[in-house]
Amino acid sequence: MNRKIPFHIPSIGEEEIAELVDTLRNGWLTTGPKTKQFEKDFAAFVGAKHAVAVNSATSGLHLALEALGVRAGDEVIIPTYTFTATGEVVTYLGARPVLADVRRDTFNLDATTIEPLITPRTKAIIPVHVAGQMCDMDPILELARRHDLRVLDDAAHTLPATYKGRSVGTMGDASVFSFYATKTITTGEGGMVTTDREDLASRMRQMSLHGLSGNAWNRYGDKGSWYYEVLEFGFKYNMTDIAAALGIHQLRRCDGFWKKRRDVASAYNAAFGALDTCVTPPLAEHTTHSWHLYILQLRLEALSKGRDEILRILGERGIRTSVHFIPLHFHPAYQRAFGYTVGMFPVSEEIFAGTVSLPIYPDMKEEDVAYVIDTVRETLAESRR
Ligand SMILES: *Cc1c(COP(=O)(O)O)cnc(C)c1O
Repeated sequence: MNRKIPFHIPSIGEEEIAELVDTLRNGWLTTGPKTKQFEKDFAAFVGAKHAVAVNSATSGLHLALEALGVRAGDEVIIPTYTFTATGEVVTYLGARPVLADVRRDTFNLDATTIEPLITPRTKAIIPVHVAGQMCDMDPILELARRHDLRVLDDAAHTLPATYKGRSVGTMGDASVFSFYATKTITTGEGGMVTTDREDLASRMRQMSLHGLSGNAWNRYGDKGSWYYEVLEFGFKYNMTDIAAALGIHQLRRCDGFWKKRRDVASAYNAAFGALDTCVTPPLAEHTTHSWHLYILQLRLEALSKGRDEILRILGERGIRTSVHFIPLHFHPAYQRAFGYTVGMFPVSEEIFAGTVSLPIYPDMKEEDVAYVIDTVRETLAESRR
């Protein structure tokens, strides 16, 4: 009777396994032909001029900010309602993450919450497309143009998605994707930065491999030479061919995965939309949703139990859930370093208080989805005020 529904299961097919075995057999394990192929395929998939493969989205965010010229003393505006990766990379460069509140309806940053935070030190904005639904980009891009700010979008949740018919990964200066194990496609660990700017792409390629001269991975190939120069103090952020072997096939299955997640989301929306104890995820105009996360909002005023208690009961009934996100200004590191305190961002705090992320992934069976629906409905019905 009691089923066990994990929060996420990656969907790995025979093609990924065969490609991985091929990589292991041919002996080229680090950045090489498979990484180049994955970059080419990814750039074509989103329609960007360049794609730079890296070993995580966190590395990609760091590289992109560095390439955009963010330096010590600069300020970068980010939402408080995000994962710490978005903020920690700003501190890597000695710059300051300036937190902004988000919209109640979309959970996303928007131009009106960003504008009052702009100072002469502001260098860049990192919009995060929360759960996989894109921010309203046009007003953000317009604001950035007016104030001469760079825009780097954190698209860790957002493959695939569109805004006004344009694909994610083609707006602003650069966009960063994550292939962490729970994201919409995975390489175990990995990330990709897309950009139309040649200068950014070549800076990121160089800095991702120790700041070496030239196309450093070629140095190990047939035509390579032993000579290199260290032009900058770079990082070690390159993607391995082991990871790329997975990525090439995950990308080909990306739209298929999306359709399955969309079906799960539709079933959840139909079931939960009618309840007065919760609110289904907001659907913004002009965007499609990647459905990386399905974030249900509990209407705490209609419930006799708190969110944490409800999550505990769902856990006992075999449903693994998560909470996205604990706002950055709740965390000791952000409070200590930048003086943030609870109470400063009321919208994010209200969202956080009632938020529950439900399982959503392509390999969920219909019975699994039905079980989640029945169990959530039953648990909320028992918890009515
Ligand atoms: C997962 C995630 C990241 C970091 O991705 P990694 O590939 O694990 O470094 C960054 N931003 C957001 C919003 C994320 O959810």
